[in-house]
Amino acid sequence: MNGPVFVTRPFLPPQETYQRYVTEIFNSRNLTNNGPLARQLEQNLKKFLGLPHLSLCANGTLALQLAIKLLRLNGKKVITTPFTYVATVSALIWENCEPVFADIDPETLCISPAQVKLRLARHPDAAAIMGVHVYGNACDVYGLDDIARANGIPALYDAAHAFGSALDGQSLLAFGAAAACSFHATKIFHTGEGGCVIASSQTQEEKINLLRAFGHIGDNHISPGINAKMSELHAAMGLSILPFFAGNLAKLERLAQIYDETLDISSNSALRRPAVQPGLKWNHAYYPVIFSTQELLKTVMDTLERCDIHPRRYFYPSLTKLPYAPAQSCPVAEDIAQRVLCLPLWPDMEACLAAKTGKLVMEAVNSCHAA
Ligand SMILES: *Cc1c(COP(=O)(O)O)cnc(C)c1O
Repeated sequence: MNGPVFVTRPFLPPQETYQRYVTEIFNSRNLTNNGPLARQLEQNLKKFLGLPHLSLCANGTLALQLAIKLLRLNGKKVITTPFTYVATVSALIWENCEPVFADIDPETLCISPAQVKLRLARHPDAAAIMGVHVYGNACDVYGLDDIARANGIPALYDAAHAFGSALDGQSLLAFGAAAACSFHATKIFHTGEGGCVIASSQTQEEKINLLRAFGHIGDNHISPGINAKMSELHAAMGLSILPFFAGNLAKLERLAQIYDETLDISSNSALRRPAVQPGLKWNHAYYPVIFSTQELLKTVMDTLERCDIHPRRYFYPSLTKLPYAPAQSCPVAEDIAQRVLCLPLWPDMEACLAAKTGKLVMEAVNSCHAA
């Protein structure tokens, strides 16, 4: 345990494994444009996740923007959550959508179907619901689906955290009219930079593949497009890492268990964990803890930082505070954003570091309560 500890550490495959793919790339001089490694990774991911319509992209933000384009939401109102990474909302704004924030469920921290209903009553012209599977936990996809269907609009998902989570035996990425996942270096499965769109039909998959490559096939120009292709070097990283994914998931689960045991959540009202959606097999991509007050969170952070351990306030602040989004209030999201902290967690984290971190958190909590 030398040097500073951050909230996560990107997983790296054995260098020789990556090098073998790089040698292939050097031999073929095929660097990008849906090359053999990108096609291979796409096939492997489709099989691994059981998803027939998956398109690789250059990153998760472009994947979100492509999903927005696919569903023709540009220029329209989209109901979404303020408790997410900024990219969810900036992607909407970048595509000229107007985000309408619906508050979150205080237990799962995902968008609340009841709050979505209230927003839809105020904004009957909203064209879609965009949920976020926060921390790899699942939105109430069935509840949101019912509302979407009743209103004749699609539900789509920012599934950036959801790789490896399964709901009722199906990959969480499978839900919604479309979903976008991120393969950024800090995510549970990554390609350095990367992402994918999951579409719900062959036609839509082909549309995404067209849009991500300038909107033309050879000399046939079909639609305005963008460059969101994944390069061969990034695909090589994904191909090198995918075989380790199941093992990494097991390691994360074990580390989360160590945190659970050290943190003594059930008997201490000063801290709690988000509730996992029923039917979810969670990927344990993050270890969020909700403290009873922001003061307590700050005390815990100070304690950890004195030991060179740097947890992350994720997500903070609530995006209702964004200076460039319409001013709206979501009291639950605003409150929780001030009190939630993600503790360090990555597959190869030493068990004793998780135990030490958990113990430091409890010492800080207990010192506050004694004072
Ligand atoms: C990481 C992330 C994104 C953006 O993905 P990139 O691949 O970094 O562009 C979007 N939404 C959420 C919730 C994320 O965590």
